[in-house]
Amino acid sequence: MKTNLKALSAKEISEFVTELGQSPYKARQIISWIYKKRAISFEEMTDLSKSFREQLKKTAFISNLKLLKKQISKDGTQKFLFELEDKETIESVLIPDNNRLTLCISSQIGCAMGCKFCMTGKLGLRRHLKSYEIIDQIIAVQKLIGDSGLKITNIVLMGMGEPLHNFDEVIEAIRRITNLTGFPKRKITISTVGIIPKIFELAEKGPQINLAISLNATTDKIRNKIMPVNKKNSLEKLMKACRNFPLAPGRRITFEYVLLAEINDSKEDGLRLVKLLKGIKSKVNLIPYNPIGKTIRVFRKPSDKKILVFQKILQNAGLTVTLRKSKGKDISAACGQLGTSHDS
Ligand code: SF4
Repeated sequence: MKTNLKALSAKEISEFVTELGQSPYKARQIISWIYKKRAISFEEMTDLSKSFREQLKKTAFISNLKLLKKQISKDGTQKFLFELEDKETIESVLIPDNNRLTLCISSQIGCAMGCKFCMTGKLGLRRHLKSYEIIDQIIAVQKLIGDSGLKITNIVLMGMGEPLHNFDEVIEAIRRITNLTGFPKRKITISTVGIIPKIFELAEKGPQINLAISLNATTDKIRNKIMPVNKKNSLEKLMKACRNFPLAPGRRITFEYVLLAEINDSKEDGLRLVKLLKGIKSKVNLIPYNPIGKTIRVFRKPSDKKILVFQKILQNAGLTVTLRKSKGKDISAACGQLGTSHDS
């Protein structure tokens, strides 16, 4: 059986190449072709000898995501539907915002967390993505947009799935993104619903990337209802984990707060949020809810007035707040909408 070089770590590629009787330098050339020049075949690796390329062709291959569909929103957001080797599909979203071009990538097919306002959660968990399937989203999208001179500037693990539920593969993917493609750590963000033991593990072992917490409620009662993960990861414990999370100089934890009318958008919620974030280097990202399909109709977006009052409460308390304009709504690429093109 042929070996998928993308499934191997840098060290494993080196071992593979050595076993073929070649020098470790050749491994470095192959890694550069795969991760920097985004080669998808050995023919492209023109600085390797013809005989070595033939040898590689007989023993190895380079897997790739197959683009099934690309949609472009009126606001410039692009959504990519990719097929994996087992025919499962995942989505990645490219979001332009002033001089930033952020790629939102998936870490699982579906998701086990079951957040009530999220379409991906409705799918349940189909499977974890392998580290190379996570990084391949970046390679594939950069290759697709490269001709137009565009370059991904930021990466967020905020697509389908809960990244910390697929911890080892996600960490390996981030290591490869930073070490092999040269993408800067400070431009990568993991967004989690707050699996506390994994936040500690990330603090201990993980590369120093940015952390975002999908918070969305200020009491356990409400959070338990809309985010079942809270039953085992209470707000008090989550905030404690955030307080102890080691941040790189000048960095802050982002708290995402999807505003749901009559559920978490009251003045009291705003004041409680201020209290919860006390002592944490934070910024708040308010996301007015996006109505999704026909299935999740229990939730509504608050009125613009209510959103601004909520924002003001946080700002008056000295918090940094951004009100996220929902991008890509018309192509179901906005927050919580991924997975709507899944065929089941
Ligand atoms: S919001 Fe994130 S963690 Fe929650 S169900 Fe959706 S994908 Fe999973």
